[in-house]
Amino acid sequence: MSKFMNSRYASLEAYTPGEQPRDMKYVKLNTNESPYPPAPEVVASVGEKDTELLRLYPDPTCRDLKRAIAAEYGTCESRVFISNGSDDILNFAFMAFAEKGAVFADITYGFNKVVAQLNLTDVRIAPLKDDLSIDPGDYMNADGRLIAIANPNAPTGIELGVDEIRKIAISNPGSVVMIDEAYADFGCASCFDLAMELPNVLVVMTCSKSRSLAGARLGFAFGPEELIADLETIKFSTNPYSINRLTMKAGIAAFSEESKRYYKDNCRQIAETREKTVKELKELGFETTDSVSNFIFAKHPGVSGQKLYEKLKENGVLIRHFTQDRICEYNRITVGSPAEMDIFLKEVKKIIGEKKR
Ligand code: PMP
Repeated sequence: MSKFMNSRYASLEAYTPGEQPRDMKYVKLNTNESPYPPAPEVVASVGEKDTELLRLYPDPTCRDLKRAIAAEYGTCESRVFISNGSDDILNFAFMAFAEKGAVFADITYGFNKVVAQLNLTDVRIAPLKDDLSIDPGDYMNADGRLIAIANPNAPTGIELGVDEIRKIAISNPGSVVMIDEAYADFGCASCFDLAMELPNVLVVMTCSKSRSLAGARLGFAFGPEELIADLETIKFSTNPYSINRLTMKAGIAAFSEESKRYYKDNCRQIAETREKTVKELKELGFETTDSVSNFIFAKHPGVSGQKLYEKLKENGVLIRHFTQDRICEYNRITVGSPAEMDIFLKEVKKIIGEKKR
């Protein structure tokens, strides 16, 4: 840290994104990207004309994109917020709604901890149960804190039911309940209807996973008009032009009827590949959580989480290893294409086989 750095950030531990190595070509199952390209309409949406128009600022209100998202979800534009990836939205929500602190799980999306620190938020940790599921009881009295729940949770992939989340929201009229649905399209019920119905529920989504647009950086959220207006205040005080022109064009195409069908098929395929891979992993002796997302969370009694990660990396397969105590025996494996998962399983079998000998 330089002597010029604001001392309030002295102890800030920045988020470490998953590796993006360039030393060799890996089967990349470590950052939950989609194995499939964006919808054909999205690929065709950005042309020379759009590149020429880059000399002009984009529309800071994102009107056309908001209209496209609102139409797909059947709501009005004033209930839609858009920003540069859902990470941006999580940060804005902490800035806007966590004055009295925040509550989130000990094992959940690591970025929550970072933005809490960045915003000097007082954090109450709600430990997951022994089976790594969320205990809704821990959230029933949050004392006005922002409640941040990833659903399905990451990196466990486990779903919390909408009815439980409704109870949490109703028992906390003084708190905003923020549901991070980055992975909900792969088989988890959405809290969208709650965000339309209750005054304190915000649902955050992203185009990075189910819509194959991680590189475009496009996140969006739904909620009551007042909460959306608060987020707009923060956004316009941070980076008013945060959605660039190219992403805006691609985003509008991503929410067309045709693209919707394409992405739905991809999600179905990914869920199918997940179930097939889980079955094979179980046959090899792995324990897995009940993931409804585009990743698998697994551990094996015969090989440590760290070892499996290292050995797979040596053999060209990248998965994500976490060092946190409770989950250090696990690895998170993004569900890739069937061909990628075949390679992954082949390499896993070699490692497990080696261990048995
Ligand atoms: N929430 C969760 C649970 C995630 O895993 C991620 C991806 N790292 C995000 C939000 C952020 O996604 P993005 O900023 O690409 O929209």
